[in-house]
Amino acid sequence: MLLSNRTTIIGAGSLGLFTALWLARRGERVTVLDKGTPMREASGVNAGSLGVQNKLLPLVPMTLGALEHWAAARELVGDDVGFDRIGGLRIATDEREVTLLRKGFEGQSAAGVKLEWLEGAAVRERAPFLSPEIRAAKAVLASHHTALSSSPSWPSSSSP
Ligand SMILES: Cc1cc2nc3c(=O)[nH]c(=O)nc-3n(C[C@H](O)[C@H](O)[C@H](O)COP(=O)(O)OP(=O)(O)OC[C@H]3O[C@@H](n4cnc5c(N)ncnc54)[C@H](O)[C@@H]3O)c2cc1C
Repeated sequence: MLLSNRTTIIGAGSLGLFTALWLARRGERVTVLDKGTPMREASGVNAGSLGVQNKLLPLVPMTLGALEHWAAARELVGDDVGFDRIGGLRIATDEREVTLLRKGFEGQSAAGVKLEWLEGAAVRERAPFLSPEIRAAKAVLASHHTALSSSPSWPSSSSP
């Protein structure tokens, strides 16, 4: 709950700036303070992966919702921020990892993530570059794994 219509946010990383954006869209007057340069810390150096299959189950609905906000970035911030839906693989190399991966696959599928289970030759067929030691893979379909390939409008250019 907002106690006034003036909010100060400390930190102009992605969390501070997006919080400021959403508050401003609700009519709040927001000031963002940073001790350095906006988007130069973690938000400016990360791998740019917006994966859903590495999230704990309770976080999956929020992650799927957040992906839709990223997809609408052009409307929100005037830039697509390099958003790309590319799909992704999460892999297992031994029996223990296969069991864990399968458990995650079933839970996340039930939570609405569009996944595909791959084992043995099917893994190699999808990703010939993977080592033969990879026993199984959980493939998340392109609509549910994304990457930020560039951030042209942001000050940092280090996001791969
Ligand atoms: C190498 C690396 C790779 C990553 N890869 C991924 C990835 O692929 N996918 C993913 O989802 N996440 C990834 N992350 C995590 C993600 O980058 C962070 O969770 C996210 O950027 C955090 O945003 P933030 O706004 O909280 O922090 P930051 O971006 O660090 O922003 C905090 C800001 O607060 C300012 N600040 C701090 N203290 C003060 C103060 N006392 N007064 C004023 N200003 C202050 C700092 O200067 C900074 O600008 C990665 C992180 C790193 C480091």
